[in-house]
Amino acid sequence: MPKLRLRYHPAVCIGAFDCVAADGRHFDRNDRGTKAVLRGAPLQGDEVQEITFTTDDVEPVLAAARVCPVAAITLEDLTSKRRLA
Ligand code: SF4
Repeated sequence: MPKLRLRYHPAVCIGAFDCVAADGRHFDRNDRGTKAVLRGAPLQGDEVQEITFTTDDVEPVLAAARVCPVAAITLEDLTSKRRLA
């Protein structure tokens, strides 16, 4: 079960919401519907948001990172130290 670090950079988000469609478990629209928010992240607003979690199902979050048109989402495997997206 990989341990992952998911980072989201709201300052570059253009609100395309492909991430929400790909992985609604981790991403949602903000209150104004202008940008994404990372569910469970302690920071909100334009600060970089980050969570760590373990999962057997990497595909949805990997898809969210890869589909973002402005590369606002990165995903790292904390065990192998490898950047996945
Ligand atoms: S896919 Fe990228 S640009 Fe679109 S809402 Fe998600 S983070 Fe923002």
